[in-house]
Amino acid sequence: MRAIAAISTPVGAGGIGILRVSGEDAPAVADAIFICKGERPLKDTPLVMRFGTFDAGDFRDCGYAVYFPSRKAYTGEDTVEFYLHGGVRIMRGALDAALRAGARLAERGEFTRRAYLSGRLSLADAEGVADMINAESAAALRAAYRLMDGTLSRDIDALSLALGDIITGLEAVLDYPEETEDEVLPPLAGQIDGVLARVTALLATADEGRMAKHGVTAVLAGKPNAGKSSLMNALLGEDRAIVTCKPGTTRDTLEGSLECDGVRINLVDTAGIRESSDEIESEGVRRALRAAEHADVVLHVVDTTDPTGSDDLCFEGTRVFTVRNKCDLTSYKCPRMYGCFAVSAKDGTGVDALRRAIAALYTEGRTASGEVITSERHKNALYRAKRALESAKQSLGGTVDLTLVDLREAYDALGEITGRTATEDVVDGIFSKFCVGK
Ligand code: GDP
Repeated sequence: MRAIAAISTPVGAGGIGILRVSGEDAPAVADAIFICKGERPLKDTPLVMRFGTFDAGDFRDCGYAVYFPSRKAYTGEDTVEFYLHGGVRIMRGALDAALRAGARLAERGEFTRRAYLSGRLSLADAEGVADMINAESAAALRAAYRLMDGTLSRDIDALSLALGDIITGLEAVLDYPEETEDEVLPPLAGQIDGVLARVTALLATADEGRMAKHGVTAVLAGKPNAGKSSLMNALLGEDRAIVTCKPGTTRDTLEGSLECDGVRINLVDTAGIRESSDEIESEGVRRALRAAEHADVVLHVVDTTDPTGSDDLCFEGTRVFTVRNKCDLTSYKCPRMYGCFAVSAKDGTGVDALRRAIAALYTEGRTASGEVITSERHKNALYRAKRALESAKQSLGGTVDLTLVDLREAYDALGEITGRTATEDVVDGIFSKFCVGK
């Protein structure tokens, strides 16, 4: 394939900038723009960092080049990487020189797409690469790494193989019922159950995977003036929310995030929840209740000094932590109960314990296997596979054709995860989310 070129490091001044060229004619492009020091041409020294001069035409830079032969390259095709001084103008000039020498500008994610097309990566592995780059916490990185290193793909391939065997057996039953029925049909229910159990187990990790990738979402809710905005700032460790002593300041939801114990925490500060005649504020209250519905935990903030006592807010179906704030002003003793906290947003008392309890919600539900579903796309495909397998089970004892239809549907759904049966649109959608140069 024709060589593609792109700057793989972010645009901006940096110690080093990397230009990457990949494709059959990458070594020829390199020869036109890089003069290696020493006798041997770059192509004769694979995987060796060679010092030399980069000739961009209107300027020169000194740096290094490495030639990766196709079998050792990320893309699965001949690749040359140049390590130059990371200046904006240097890198732009270096890229232009590579384009003049015959390469074309790479599209978003095209290096990884070529790795996928050459069979070096599955579609799920490629998504793991994107997740690594976009990860915002250690937990997200760990999950992305497991995806990128092929753990999920191997599991899905094993399930597809098992399902493929079942399908082949049943097809034989269709063609030669008398010779094969007695062998194929008796173990069928057990075999489908085996695949179904694994698919169900994978789906059960989706919540953990979501928290690993996107973080734990905690919504602060409670009466106006309970100290929600102050607590949000204290949890974030910075002045992110506007704090005033006039009730009803936080009219919309306000978001911020932090990392605690390797877990990303997304905080959503909401409008104080109370009856209000102010239309904008009422909308804020509605949004608060809606945000609470989608939270992993609601931090129900209560002012311990409030003479009117606690409110009677009810967040059905969501985990709630009761957070008694302003404990610096009272001698309030917090009951030793799970989900009860006494804090002072003002002097910081109890704030770290609360932060860690929120982060622990991720660790709490973790499975031992370490393999988690972090992508909605994978979750969706697994759901469809599960439904089809359940339907296949129900159809047992009836006509073999019907069971086969369901099993093939499950097989195709699983194949979408690794790319075996993914449509061009799905593949395009995935790679369009990458940056240029990856
Ligand atoms: P919100 O309406 O629930 O967001 O409440 P704010 O965060 O705006 O706080 C309302 C008032 O309570 C402000 O005057 C804050 O300074 C004060 N406040 C908030 N938290 C504390 C606390 O822990 N201790 C004390 N003494 N005052 C607090």
